[in-house]
Amino acid sequence: MAIVQQILFIGILGFTGWFVFRRVAIIRKTILLGKDDDRTDQPQRRLSVMLRVAFGQKKMFDRPSIGVLHLAVYLGFILINIEILEIVLDGVLGKHRIFAPLLGSFYPLWISFFEFLALAVLIACVVFLLRRSIVKVERLQPERHREMAGWPQLDGKLILVLEIVLMIAILTMNAADSVLQDRGNAHYTITGAFFFSQFLKPVFNGVSEPALVVIERIAWWFHILGIFVFAVYVTYSKHLHIILAFPNTYFARLSPKGEMNNMPEITKEVRIMLGLENQTGEASEVPERFGAKDITDLNWKNLMDAYSCTECGRCTAACPANITGKKLSPRKVMMDTRDRLEDVGRIMLANKGEFIADGKSLIGDYILEEEILACTTCNACVQECPVLINPLDIILQLRRHKVMDEAHAPGSWNAMFQNLDTNQAPWKFSPADRFNWASGLKQDEV
Ligand code: SF4
Ligand code: SF4
Repeated sequence: MAIVQQILFIGILGFTGWFVFRRVAIIRKTILLGKDDDRTDQPQRRLSVMLRVAFGQKKMFDRPSIGVLHLAVYLGFILINIEILEIVLDGVLGKHRIFAPLLGSFYPLWISFFEFLALAVLIACVVFLLRRSIVKVERLQPERHREMAGWPQLDGKLILVLEIVLMIAILTMNAADSVLQDRGNAHYTITGAFFFSQFLKPVFNGVSEPALVVIERIAWWFHILGIFVFAVYVTYSKHLHIILAFPNTYFARLSPKGEMNNMPEITKEVRIMLGLENQTGEASEVPERFGAKDITDLNWKNLMDAYSCTECGRCTAACPANITGKKLSPRKVMMDTRDRLEDVGRIMLANKGEFIADGKSLIGDYILEEEILACTTCNACVQECPVLINPLDIILQLRRHKVMDEAHAPGSWNAMFQNLDTNQAPWKFSPADRFNWASGLKQDEV
């Protein structure tokens, strides 16, 4: 029986590893469809940003109570993986609690620490689930935010339920194991009491030994299979941020938020037009495309941003366009970009890793013109994001394409462009009349 379990475990472990590797490879490939953008400057500053924002969860503590709960889930996720190493080794080698003889009397303390984390994760996940289902935090509700309808809503709850069940499985497994140790079952190594699960032991008082072994094994298999399912599921869900938050914050933009990425060719033409620069040599080469129509026109960091989005909606809750009832939601911009990436990934999988154009584009088929035109470029979304995503950068590139490539700008904008061209200002007054407002004023009033 033990050998059957061992073979089964190795098979499932191998399949999970292969599947996750395949998913990671296709995600990496789609991100690399983006344009080059060198983000390797100032490594020390980048490291410091990553340590503060991703590792230290700095932005999560803008709301301290949520910050503490999120930290519990995050530390639980990172540290419980060490315990999973023991479970995987047990499964592969057909052993039971392989680290117990190595760690001696330290072992029960070690497991008790994981039980403490499991309990903290359990409590935090229950609170998060209540916030979503009963308190109904506004930014997470599909009735108000259409991008949260369907799968994103379910995804947010599903992962919390999965984590709660996994934590219960750890505690049940340890409690049943402890009772079997007390009853002297030869297979269950004597380790000493575990602090938290011992409170569950009375539940098993009247249970026979064979039934207890079955309960312990079910909890063990359930826990580890749950972890494998979680590993695959994460690659399809917003929870990819657990991993991508680190590179995403490391490669975040370091320049001031208000600084826009101008196109050098256009900047040069404008400077010449305004008389700030002389025309030297040939006119600038016309770029193949102004701005971005599809994901291949965005840079790789824009695409990594899309995969890193936690769908928390802090950006949308702060967006003045969204607050005033416009169609724009920066969260939706990121989710749509990710959806497009996922569709492209499927095309690549079906075509031996090659992206064959499908006649669709990010702007038009996923994000509507009305949405991006509503942006005030205020940067509130960028300021709010806990993983340093920049939705504005994508919006501006899509808008640049609409305005410059397709000449699709609202009438009022065209009038402003015309004024800029002829009057070097947004208003329809000649530059010669610029100081008319001061005529008639006395010298000391000016
Ligand atoms: S920059 Fe645009 S999308 Fe971001 S918060 Fe401001 S208006 Fe909304
Ligand atoms: S872009 Fe940032 S703030 Fe907005 S939903 Fe995604 S993670 Fe949250």
